[in-house]
Amino acid sequence: VKNVLKKPNWLKITLPLNYKKINIIKKNLRNNKLHSVCEEALCPNMHECFNNNTATFMILGSVCTRKCPFCAVKKGRPTIPDILEPEKLADVVVKMNLKYVVITSVTRDDLKYGGIEHFVKCIQEIRKRKNIKIEILVPDFKNCQNKVIEYLGLSLPDVFNHNIESVPRLYKKIRPGADYISSLNLLKKFKKKYSNIETKSGLMLGLGENKKEVLDVLYDLRNNGVTMLTLGQYLQPSSLHLKVKSYITQFEFNFFKKFALSIGFKNAFCGPLVRSSYHAYDQQKK
Ligand code: SF4
Ligand code: SF4
Repeated sequence: VKNVLKKPNWLKITLPLNYKKINIIKKNLRNNKLHSVCEEALCPNMHECFNNNTATFMILGSVCTRKCPFCAVKKGRPTIPDILEPEKLADVVVKMNLKYVVITSVTRDDLKYGGIEHFVKCIQEIRKRKNIKIEILVPDFKNCQNKVIEYLGLSLPDVFNHNIESVPRLYKKIRPGADYISSLNLLKKFKKKYSNIETKSGLMLGLGENKKEVLDVLYDLRNNGVTMLTLGQYLQPSSLHLKVKSYITQFEFNFFKKFALSIGFKNAFCGPLVRSSYHAYDQQKK
C-alpha cells in the first residue's frame, strides 16, 4: 500500500506457544465482565505481560467518549458503569495473585467528575483485600480536575499516571478534545497536593513530532513534578487509524532516556515496545 512505512525488524515479535495462562486470564476477565486495556488497545506485549501475571484493567466500560484517531479503543456511547465492578476487580486481582496493579479507564466525559468516584472505590476494594501497590492511569478530567484531585484524597494510589501522549503541535490531530496545558495541569495539581506520591507520564513517538519538541515536553513534565517516564513507538492498530510517520530506533530511544535522567527523572522506560504500563512493577521499584 502506498505511503505505509515498512515495519522494521525490531518490532516483529515472536509469539510464544504457551497460550494457557493467557486464556485463563482472558476467561477470568470475561466471566467477571472486566476489561483489560491490554486487549482493548491490542497491546503488543500482551503475551509477555499475561504470562507474567500482569495486566492493566480498564474500568468504567470499554467505550470512550473521545475520538483519538490513534487509539484502538471503541468510541461511541458508553454504557452505564457497573456498580459491582470495584468488587469484581478486587476479587480478580486477588485471584490472579498480582503484585502490582494498574487501573485505567476510557474517558467518561458523560459522568460526574469523569467517574473518579468509581476509581476511588476500586482502590478501596483492592486495599481491603490485599496489600498491593496500585497505579492509576487516568484521563485528563478536563472540566473537573480540582474536584478529582480532592476526591482522590479518600484513597490515594501509589503512582499517579497521566499520559501526555504527544507534543503540543500535534494535539489537534492526535488528541482532539484534549488540551496539552490541561494535561500538564492535572499532573501539576496532583503533585502539589500529594507531594509524596510519584507522578508518571508518557508519550508515543512516530507520529510526526521532532526531537526538539520531545525534549521540550520532557522539560515541561519535569517542571511540573513528574518523575517517571515512558516513551514508546506508536503502532497503527488498523488501516482506519493514524499512519505511522517514522520508526524510532533503540539508539534514539536511548538518547531520550539519557536526556530524561539528566534533567531529573528518577526512571525512564524508553523503547519501541514500551507502553505506559509495561514492566510497571519494575519501574516503580527503581
Ligand atoms: Fe497490558 Fe500494559 Fe502489558 Fe500492554 S504493556 S499488555 S497494556 S500491562
Ligand atoms: Fe483512546 Fe484515551 Fe483517546 Fe479515549 S481518550 S480515544 S481511550 S486515547
